[in-house]
Amino acid sequence: MSAETCKKETVAPRFLLPDAGGHFGEFGGIYVPETLMTPLAELTAAYETARRDPAFQQELAFLLKQYVGRPTILYFAEGLTRHLGGAKIYLKREDLLHTGAHKINNALGQALLAKRMGKKRVIAETGAGQHGVATAAICAKFGLECVIYMGATDMARQALNVYRMRLMGAEVRAVTAGQQTLKEAVNEAMRDWVTNVRTTHYILGTAYGAHPFPMMVRDFQRVISKESREQMLAAEGKLPDQVIACVGGGSNAIGSFFEYLDDPAVALTGVEAGGRAIAPGEHAARFAGGKLGVLQGCLTYILQNYDGQIEGTHSVSAGLDYAAVGPEHAYYWKKGRIQFAHANDTEALAAFQLLCRTEGILPALESSHALAHAVKVAPTLAQEKVLLVNLSGRGDKDVWHAAKVMGEELAV
Ligand SMILES: *Cc1c(COP(=O)(O)O)cnc(C)c1O
Repeated sequence: MSAETCKKETVAPRFLLPDAGGHFGEFGGIYVPETLMTPLAELTAAYETARRDPAFQQELAFLLKQYVGRPTILYFAEGLTRHLGGAKIYLKREDLLHTGAHKINNALGQALLAKRMGKKRVIAETGAGQHGVATAAICAKFGLECVIYMGATDMARQALNVYRMRLMGAEVRAVTAGQQTLKEAVNEAMRDWVTNVRTTHYILGTAYGAHPFPMMVRDFQRVISKESREQMLAAEGKLPDQVIACVGGGSNAIGSFFEYLDDPAVALTGVEAGGRAIAPGEHAARFAGGKLGVLQGCLTYILQNYDGQIEGTHSVSAGLDYAAVGPEHAYYWKKGRIQFAHANDTEALAAFQLLCRTEGILPALESSHALAHAVKVAPTLAQEKVLLVNLSGRGDKDVWHAAKVMGEELAV
């Protein structure tokens, strides 16, 4: 057997993933109603040409710089490092991006693709509202009609983000089915897309769903690790020993891991929401309590009961509160290349406060889960070891919620 074949059997060459059917090994795929097969095939074809077109890549790079605010800083968290007394901690500052999180990297890429495909209308789903706000912003900039589907429960919890979207000209449609949260919003967005596909592009917000979405979103988020790899080499003269990112659907994590996949000395750790406890309905740690199944377009690890019904989920952070995980993560988890841990609500809230106090940086509650893992690991490591934490977003959106959970009611 040649060395080449040998290599293929351990981990498929990452640039060939997914295959033409959208599979990452046994995961992923295109599990959708027949009416969506044609639009997904058209989208795949359009994306394949766009990604190879230097003009598309140039416009994307220009806007990432001028509108989104890239490159983001690689920041040595000296105060936090000193406080923990172990490995050096670096933060990749995606929280500094326009609209406050990594979501805009993908929203911009897909909106450019929509324009290229001649689509004048954009739809998206949103949970906490970060993806909705990023999409609304890009649509305002490009003059695209924008409709955001959001569960009625989430709209009440995230009233500020709903208003931000409306200020930017988006129509926010309340979804009142089921639990009235993200899962139902995705269903409504898919229904809209089937009906209006000739005029409409669906900007899915994470590395999830039917092919080509997991691949496309990953490609648009890869810029995070492209930058951090160079910045790390410049700052430390070596790669980090471990990269840590929180995992909802998995887009900021795959974006911050991707360029390190072929560096076996760099450990990659995804941190899921441990919620209140690893018990049905109390968390969103798919690798801790999930089983193989199909949800909203792909085959992956899902929190479900033994009848295959989707379990309720809980996390203090809305952005990690989803029953399924992106198929590429399932693939690398099974191969042993990406490890998964979870941080619970209490640990995340403690990390949230710790970063505020040691660095004067207010992290998103989602990102606080990745930080919580670094807080556990750093003190066990020697001082020359380096941890890189992806700070996926800023915490301004979370201040009201965090205060409430920590027992303080802020005056209006
Ligand atoms: C949406 C969001 C997440 C979770 O989504 P991924 O696709 O897993 O990255 C994490 N952090 C922030 C700040 C978010 O807004």
